[in-house]
Amino acid sequence: MTTRDILLDHVSIRFGAYTAVDNAYLTIKGGEFFSFLGPSGCGKTTLLRCISGFVDPSEGRVLIGGKDMGGVGPNKRPTALIFQNLALFPLMSVAENIAFPLEVRGVGRKERRKRADELLELIALPGTGDKKVHELSGGQRQRVAIARALAVEPDILLLDEPLSALDLKLRQHMRSELRAIQQRVGLTFIYITHDQGEALTMSDRVAVMNRGVIEQIGDPESVYERPKTAFVAAFVGETNQIPGIIAGQDGQIAVLDTPLGRLSGRAGGGRSYKQGDRCLLFIRPERLRLADPAGDGVNRIAARHVTEEFEGSIRHLFLKAEGHELRVSLVNDGSMATSRRADDTVTVTFDAGFAMVLPEDGAPDGAA
Ligand code: ATP
Repeated sequence: MTTRDILLDHVSIRFGAYTAVDNAYLTIKGGEFFSFLGPSGCGKTTLLRCISGFVDPSEGRVLIGGKDMGGVGPNKRPTALIFQNLALFPLMSVAENIAFPLEVRGVGRKERRKRADELLELIALPGTGDKKVHELSGGQRQRVAIARALAVEPDILLLDEPLSALDLKLRQHMRSELRAIQQRVGLTFIYITHDQGEALTMSDRVAVMNRGVIEQIGDPESVYERPKTAFVAAFVGETNQIPGIIAGQDGQIAVLDTPLGRLSGRAGGGRSYKQGDRCLLFIRPERLRLADPAGDGVNRIAARHVTEEFEGSIRHLFLKAEGHELRVSLVNDGSMATSRRADDTVTVTFDAGFAMVLPEDGAPDGAA
């Protein structure tokens, strides 16, 4: 463990009989951009508040740089927290806002201004120190809030849905800004969000939480491509979900009898299934391809065309097969005819390696 690593050592947090965080065990490495991703109420904020010292674990320990943080107050921890609501001071200039934490600590005026100017360079807003906060755009204010948090030179920046108040376009722009700032300063960023797009685009690693439990930890690609639980598969990205009963398993490939026929996919999380197990087959819309209806082979689904949406670079087809909705995303390569009509029969296929077979109520089997 380096001096900046964080270890959540079997942390549980309870409010009365309610368990908000259930046995979280993970290491966040110094310099990592690490996100906690999950729906509202899954315990992300509570875990973040525990790292920053505002909530004590009911069980387990938080270690920063190998040091047990038990009894160490928020001000004594090498962490700074940025909330959803920025709370910049409207009557102060940008530089005064950034330097405010230094003023509280008794740093002199000249030194404060120098530091504020350096931080303004860092957040790519040089020369704006004398502006008033209301003269800045939402995204610029967000960067100022980050600069203010960085003024006290924390090792770890904790960000609680900092982009949620911004409009979509600005939010998307700020993703790359935040990532760039993190890489420039080389600090550990711990980011919480319910927005999977944010978590996937910015993070080195993501922990996906569901009802207080961390169901999976991994880099964005592995969480997206190899979900270990049905919750992770359904929560992270778009997916099609087909229920079935296990007919057999051959190595990594599980075969399922489903209302849409016999289909196969990878046994998620390296599980071994027994014949008769109830499972779900997950297949991403972009992994489904149109197939020749007269062809043969495995993993073919005959469906009915319902409608389609043209999104410029991608065409989304909405199909129905045996009452199940299927979504297919096709890259627009310019050659596609749009001659499909409602109720036309469409055959789609997929490679078993791209589908995941997961238990219906998959208990997490290790979150490494
Ligand atoms: P959101 O995205 O909506 O902020 P979250 O994933 O951050 O959600 P938390 O704020 O961590 O969720 O809350 C997790 C659960 O713990 C919720 O059911 C919440 O009501 C409960 N909880 C949080 N703080 C307290 C508290 N101080 N006392 C009692 N229950 C609490």
